[in-house]
Amino acid sequence: MTLLQRSLVPALLVLFGLGLAFGRQSKQPVVRAEKVAGTVSVLFGEGGNIGVSSGADGILIVDDQFERLVPEIEAALAKLAPGKAAPRFLVNTHHHGDHTGGNAHFGKSAVVLAHENVRARLLDEKAPATALPVVTYADGIALHLNGEEIRVLHVPGAHTDGDSVVWFKGSNVVHLGDLYFQLGYPFVDVASGGNVLGLIEGLRGLLPGLPADVRLVPGHGVVTGREGLEEYVKMLETLTARVREHLAEGRDVKAMLAAGVTKDFDPRWGNFAFVPPEKFVASIVDSLR
Ligand SMILES: [Zn+2]
Repeated sequence: MTLLQRSLVPALLVLFGLGLAFGRQSKQPVVRAEKVAGTVSVLFGEGGNIGVSSGADGILIVDDQFERLVPEIEAALAKLAPGKAAPRFLVNTHHHGDHTGGNAHFGKSAVVLAHENVRARLLDEKAPATALPVVTYADGIALHLNGEEIRVLHVPGAHTDGDSVVWFKGSNVVHLGDLYFQLGYPFVDVASGGNVLGLIEGLRGLLPGLPADVRLVPGHGVVTGREGLEEYVKMLETLTARVREHLAEGRDVKAMLAAGVTKDFDPRWGNFAFVPPEKFVASIVDSLR
């Protein structure tokens, strides 16, 4: 290769990469809105699903994905509520960056609400001042907006130590945050106070109160009814019981997987790249310690 060729190759690669990046941006928007029920819509994109209440009183959003998606999120909100697109309220279901990445922007104009542990964790992470929850609660809080009660309930020690679910009572929709991973095995953040036993207990506690025709927005995945959540909770319970037995027999995560602990569930739940079976099983082991 000549010197000229050697310097051209990286330059061409960079141009090719930029072309891909721009091509993707201009042709395929990442954020897509879908109506759920009543006042509630959901924005799918990258990171946690965003719940939206839009109506005569304006907009409330649940979570805000990533900072780089803010322009797309704003464009989607402008379509849902022309002239009232700036959210008045923002509820964070927990502190993870794929649910709070837009806080620094939206928090400039919206009142940010979250469980008190979310504020503490964002402070620890040196989040900018506008990203911090202004209203915090220990057990929950209610908002009255767009003709309905929006009840925010804390679920202790589940996906993290600061989880909330947001129940749009009139619309009959619940945003479950990352208590509900619809697209695969859940990430249980034991290092941030999460625990699979708390996750199961929290969801078991919610299920009897959910109306038969309720719509459930997961943190990740598609909107389902009760049956989707019931299937998920049964998977959590079954695998937790199995891991408990394996632990009692002295097996570690590797030996449990070799014995096929998740095998029959993997076709439905094992395809989410971020949480392969071994990561989920390890988090159950950590939860049972
Ligand atoms: Zn999360």
